[in-house]
Amino acid sequence: MRIEVDKLKEASTPFASIYAPDELPLEDELMRLTAEAKVEGRASKKREQIRLQGKLSASVEVACDRCAAPVDVSVNTDFDVTYLPVDILTVETEATELQEDDLNFAAYEGDTVDIDELAREQILLALPTRQLCREDCQGLCPTCGANLNTGTCQCDQQEIDPRWAALAALKKSDK
Ligand SMILES: [Zn+2]
Ligand SMILES: [Zn+2]
Repeated sequence: MRIEVDKLKEASTPFASIYAPDELPLEDELMRLTAEAKVEGRASKKREQIRLQGKLSASVEVACDRCAAPVDVSVNTDFDVTYLPVDILTVETEATELQEDDLNFAAYEGDTVDIDELAREQILLALPTRQLCREDCQGLCPTCGANLNTGTCQCDQQEIDPRWAALAALKKSDK
C-alpha cells in the first residue's frame, strides 16, 4: 500500500493495512511472518514533510541464534516517522541536522510514501537483535552439527579416540 502525498491534508488522515504472511516478505531468509501483520495510524502533511504515526502488530518466526530452531516473536510497536523527499533528506543529513534522531526520519521518492516498506522496517527494528529458543539453549555441536538440546553427540569421544589409539599403538610396540 502507498499513500499519495498529494491527497494528504494538514489534518491527519487515517490509514490502515493488513498483510497476509506472504504479502510482506521480510527479505531475510531466517525470518518470516506467521500471521497477519497489521499496521494502522494517521498521516499528516506539513509542506513537503509527511508524518506517519501509529502502531504495528505482527507475529514473526525467527531462527534461534544458537541452534536455528524456529522461535515465535510477537511484535507490537508504535512508530512516529517523518518522511522527507529524498533530495531534502540527503541535504539535511549531510548538514548533520538529523543524525541525532535519524531513525525517525525516512525518505520518500516521487509522490507516494510506501507503507509496505514502513511496515517491514518497523518489524525489523522491533525484533530483538539476539534471539534464543530458550535461555539455556545448548546450540549445535560445532563439529557434527547435532542439536545438543535434544541429545549428545559422539564428538568428544571421537576427539579422544585417536590419542588413545596412538597410545595403545605405542604400548603395543613397547612389548
Ligand atoms: Zn536454540
Ligand atoms: Zn558432535
